[in-house]
Amino acid sequence: MIAENLKQVRTNIIQACESVGRDPGEVTLVAVSKTKPAALLQEAYDADARVFGENKVQEIMDKYDKLPGDIQWHMIGHLQRNKVKYIVDKVSMIHSVDSLRLAETIEQEAAKHQICVPVLIEVNVAEEESKFGVRMEEVIPLLLQICDFPHLEVRGLMTIAPFVENPESNRTIFRQLKKLSVDIAAKNINNVTMSVLSMGMTGDYEVAVQEGATMVRVGTGIFGEREYLR
Ligand SMILES: *Cc1c(COP(=O)(O)O)cnc(C)c1O
Repeated sequence: MIAENLKQVRTNIIQACESVGRDPGEVTLVAVSKTKPAALLQEAYDADARVFGENKVQEIMDKYDKLPGDIQWHMIGHLQRNKVKYIVDKVSMIHSVDSLRLAETIEQEAAKHQICVPVLIEVNVAEEESKFGVRMEEVIPLLLQICDFPHLEVRGLMTIAPFVENPESNRTIFRQLKKLSVDIAAKNINNVTMSVLSMGMTGDYEVAVQEGATMVRVGTGIFGEREYLR
């Protein structure tokens, strides 16, 4: 089942790329495995998934030891500063940097391990009260504060678009984030690249790909419904 779902999602990504003349090789599929047991992740792994997204520190720690070592773990959920130390050396990317204080903590913990952690800035494009992330106009000021951190490397932007019935409703959100990333790239901020645009989930990843996503985070579309409401 999971292998078939993965195949379908990959096909949809390729088709979305082709519809706008993009190279499918530019798009990384992050298999969002939160709440799912290790056996299901192993099933996805056996169907060639290597990048997994989780939103809870404890779950990353539990699954990290149970699954193959060549998996790339992406932290995609809100990250509390006191928990950074548990995962900083286990994740290959943190999608959810949304404050100077969190960036400082990641910097400090990464320094202890002498590693450099790739991060994305989470942007609340739609300014939803319920969502984490900085507002569009706060992104550049934040980047200017953290760009000199030697153990942290900003690779791009992430957003969680609103939950909508029709994915077309989120097209302008994705377009705004893409435009912001292009504007930032043009500023050539030291140590900051905008090579990653993490946007699009099960309901809207094809639209996100058409608008320039280089990472899509798909959970339900691969692993099926979760046992709770998002
Ligand atoms: C759960 C989650 C996803 C995946 O959501 P689906 O709708 O199941 O694809 C993507 N991104 C983040 C940040 C999430 O928390």
